[in-house]
Amino acid sequence: MSDELVASIKATVGPKGWIADRSGMARFLQEERGLFRGAAQLVVQPGTVGELSEVVRLCHAAGQPIVPQGGNTGLCGGGVPNETGREIVVSLARLNRVRGIDPLNYTITVEAGCILSAIQSAAEAADRLFPLSLAAEGSCQIGGNLSTNAGGIQVLRYGNARDLVLGLEVVLPDGRVWDGLRSLRKDNTGYDLKQLFVGAEGTLGIISAAVLKLFPRPRAVETALAAVRGPQAAIELLARCRAGSGDCVTAFELLPRIGIEFVLRHMPGSVDPFATPQPWQVLIDFSSGESGGAVRNALETILERALEEGLVLDAVVASSAQQAKQLWKLREAMSESQKHEGGSIKHDVSVPVSRVAEFIEAASRAVHAEMPDLRIVAFGHVGDGNVHYNLSQPVGADKAAFLSHWGKFNRIVHDIVVSMGGSISAEHGIGQLKRDELAHYKAPLELELMRKVKAALDPRGIMNPGKVI
Ligand code: ZN
Repeated sequence: MSDELVASIKATVGPKGWIADRSGMARFLQEERGLFRGAAQLVVQPGTVGELSEVVRLCHAAGQPIVPQGGNTGLCGGGVPNETGREIVVSLARLNRVRGIDPLNYTITVEAGCILSAIQSAAEAADRLFPLSLAAEGSCQIGGNLSTNAGGIQVLRYGNARDLVLGLEVVLPDGRVWDGLRSLRKDNTGYDLKQLFVGAEGTLGIISAAVLKLFPRPRAVETALAAVRGPQAAIELLARCRAGSGDCVTAFELLPRIGIEFVLRHMPGSVDPFATPQPWQVLIDFSSGESGGAVRNALETILERALEEGLVLDAVVASSAQQAKQLWKLREAMSESQKHEGGSIKHDVSVPVSRVAEFIEAASRAVHAEMPDLRIVAFGHVGDGNVHYNLSQPVGADKAAFLSHWGKFNRIVHDIVVSMGGSISAEHGIGQLKRDELAHYKAPLELELMRKVKAALDPRGIMNPGKVI
């Protein structure tokens, strides 16, 4: 990177807009899980879209590679630079204004650096709901959520990030700003350009602002934990919940026994509400715009009938918001608690909802055949067909030695996923972690089309090189 380019960028963003010292840059250069760590000459934090546009224009002219970054809560290495030190990080953190909210149009317009929870709060203040909700919501940024097409716990009812966006403003790889900030629910004027940038992980441009869909705020939310014999019973229960409630299921999360045990062991204050250990549990949220007991009645009726028929083994419906929170803790702590059990080889996969049980069974047979004493923690958003199929190391095993099998287990699990018409990345993205897996599994024609899009929008290849494709 030439001294001249560095000086021009610094002059563009001013003294508050860049970091060049090692300790100041450290948190931008690695991911929380520690799988990816890189180097950079500069972290740039533009304070306006105009500054961002000028920085990108300068980089484009110089052929300088850029790594766009949101809250840096990703899990696949999509937002951190490589190890060469040749790239610069462009952080969107200072572009964090809510530009406007239109309650009658049920939309909010926000800048890319807005923290997800701040958007939820702004919507709530206008008596509206922004439904995207995930573990990192207190620190992840909407630009990153859109760039990775984030999912989370309410996708079943409201869709993932892709479904929640109506318009985008994007700084293109040559520095020009595309103003696509339309707030329309109907717009059939040719290609849906905004969707190219959603899920592109910053490889086609930098999302700088978005118009997002809002929804009515639910007046009643009811939470239940139901014990079931296995994933197939869970999926059958889901179908009944949807049909019997007027489709007001907002979350449906599968929790395996071993995952519950990890949480109880490592998370102080967590409680299993059932007197006897249950093989599998599902955490269910129903929500409705109507207050009064209708949604609770529906939930109780469905569970009672399922209990009588043996589909559900036991169930508890939360009697207070406090108890609902307690039940949700079992789910929310599931990833964190696995860290205390040593190394974990992760898979974020999806299959058709109707094949979730078949997938878990087949994958579990296959990985156990390879390593009988590894511990399978299969959990997550089965209402979306999305399983976090995590493999915890055998008790007492060496962590590094276990993690060295990452690629082998990926291949075993992903082969099964793909054979069932599933996806090797359901909600976490590709980044660096799954780039080679993508190349391995994606159809050649799809890869060719993706490369053509990339070459058309970013012919100099400066936007987040080495990620996704
Ligand atoms: Zn998830």
